[in-house]
Amino acid sequence: MQSALRSMFSRTIAIAAIVGLTAWQPAPQKVYICDSSSSYAYHIDRDCSGLGHCKHRILVVTKQDAINTYGRQACKICAR
Ligand SMILES: [Zn+2]
Repeated sequence: MQSALRSMFSRTIAIAAIVGLTAWQPAPQKVYICDSSSSYAYHIDRDCSGLGHCKHRILVVTKQDAINTYGRQACKICAR
C-alpha cells in the first residue's frame, strides 16, 4: 500500500512536470537596437553605453528579429 501510494505520487509529479513543460511558452526576449544603418549590435540593456551613442530611434524587437531581420549581433558591452 505504501509503495503503491508512493508510485502514484511520483507519477503525478512526472505528469505535472510534463504538462508544466509543454504549457510553458518562453516569452521572446526583447532587445534594443539603434535604427541606424551603421549600428551592428543589439542590446539587452536599455541603458547600455553602446546605445547612448544612438542618434536615431531605438527599436524594441525580439532577439530573433534583431539577428534574422536586422542582421545584428550581440553587443560586446551588455549582451555577451
Ligand atoms: Zn549594449
